Amino acid sequence: MSHIDGIVSAQRAFFNAGKTRDVDFRIRQLGILRRALKENEKQILDALYADLGKSDYEAYMTEVGIVLEDIRYYLKKIRRWARPRRVRTPYYHLPASSWIYPEPYGVALIIAPWNYPFQLAVAPLVAAVSAGNCAVIKPSEFSVSTSQVLADLARRYFDPAFIGVVTGDVAVSKALLAEKFDKIFFTGSPGVGRIVMGAAARHLTPVTLELGGKSPCIVEKDADIPLSAKRIASGKFINAGQTCIAPDYLLVQRSVRDSLVDEIQGHIRKFFGENPAESKVYPRIINKNHLERLSGLVEGATLICGGDHDPETLYFAPTLVEGTDLSHPIMQEEIFGPILPVLTYDTITEVIDMVNSRPKPLALYLFTGDAGKAKAVMNKTAFGGGCVNDTLIHFATPHLPFGGVGNSGMGSYHGKFGFDTFTHYKGIMKNTFHVDLPFRYPPFFKYINLLKKVLR
Ligand code: NAD
Repeated sequence: MSHIDGIVSAQRAFFNAGKTRDVDFRIRQLGILRRALKENEKQILDALYADLGKSDYEAYMTEVGIVLEDIRYYLKKIRRWARPRRVRTPYYHLPASSWIYPEPYGVALIIAPWNYPFQLAVAPLVAAVSAGNCAVIKPSEFSVSTSQVLADLARRYFDPAFIGVVTGDVAVSKALLAEKFDKIFFTGSPGVGRIVMGAAARHLTPVTLELGGKSPCIVEKDADIPLSAKRIASGKFINAGQTCIAPDYLLVQRSVRDSLVDEIQGHIRKFFGENPAESKVYPRIINKNHLERLSGLVEGATLICGGDHDPETLYFAPTLVEGTDLSHPIMQEEIFGPILPVLTYDTITEVIDMVNSRPKPLALYLFTGDAGKAKAVMNKTAFGGGCVNDTLIHFATPHLPFGGVGNSGMGSYHGKFGFDTFTHYKGIMKNTFHVDLPFRYPPFFKYINLLKKVLR
């Protein structure tokens, strides 16, 4: 595809011209991005409504607002982060000095999914631009309206040789992956993550993979059950469950199972009314295929509530189902929709063993009033990140790294971690001509005793 080849070579020329190495340039571009988002906020919110039925409030909170806040934070920090930093030097190298130079990778490819189609394309872009890269964004072909808006904004506000948006399906994505990029940032499923990493390997391009998985949500009997239920219901049903870090399934201590389930149902009614299909704030499923996949998952399952759906309006009710055998598809594949299986357990050791026997999840949530227990669970389980006594909020801070591990991904971003993800740190030692110690030059043998004193 020649337009892809063209955009990548134009970006390479732009990068090589050195403009993006100038921090003032980056700051100006972030300012333009912020202006683009503010001037076109309505267009963006409308597109998110068209794609996923997100209310303006939810779309602003989870997509536009979070990115604006990101830009504000990067603008505050970028000068400090981009400066070469002096570090210590071992005495045997003195009087040399040691420096770390942050260096942009070059031309970055950002591949985004459809569930937060704006935020998951633009937040990595903010990090890439801050670090001094050019970037090509490939949004998802399923979030058609948002992808169009992204392409339109890029065209109107940026030089395509600096920031370009290439829309299209898997074929376009594959054509992009055939090109040589200097960094690939992929958000999507673990299956496609493997394909991306394989393609990157051909060019030895470093990758960050932000993948998904089945994130457990554990509730101990000593938790504040009403508040836990409220936070679980909000974390699960925001974006109609199409959130990579949504609680995928519940593990609840047997004695509090009934009260937790009652409370969650109560909160579903409070949030979305008696009939969520009529709610103005309950989003829709992205498309018919996904709706059918979700209805397949609940087939044969024992419903606690919900389950109703409509392929015409893409509505799928907030749904609780009884826990099933772990081999059932609902406990095997990432649900990625508003269905929450409820499993019970007796001891926390059982839970730790179960979590550790499965692929490492992107998130883990634990609700407990016992700080010691929380510490033990955090120490004994492996996962990307998560919360104690809450859901999702670990995502919305620049001070924590966000990313998966193992099957849920590699690398991280947000705040400084995002800047680091798009930066190569060059280690430089600066020597002088004033001193020249003899023991590093051949023939070495007469300095062996001295050397053994120094390197011991
Ligand atoms: P996906 O992997 O199907 O698609 C993601 C992107 O990859 C899209 O732009 C798509 O065009 C492209 N793509 C798809 N197949 C490809 C192929 N064979 N070769 C090259 N490119 C290809 O993911 P999705 O359905 O859009 O999103 C859902 C998945 O993303 C879930 O697993 C979810 O957990 C995960 N996710 C993770 C995060 C995170 O931050 N870790 C955030 C959101 C979504």
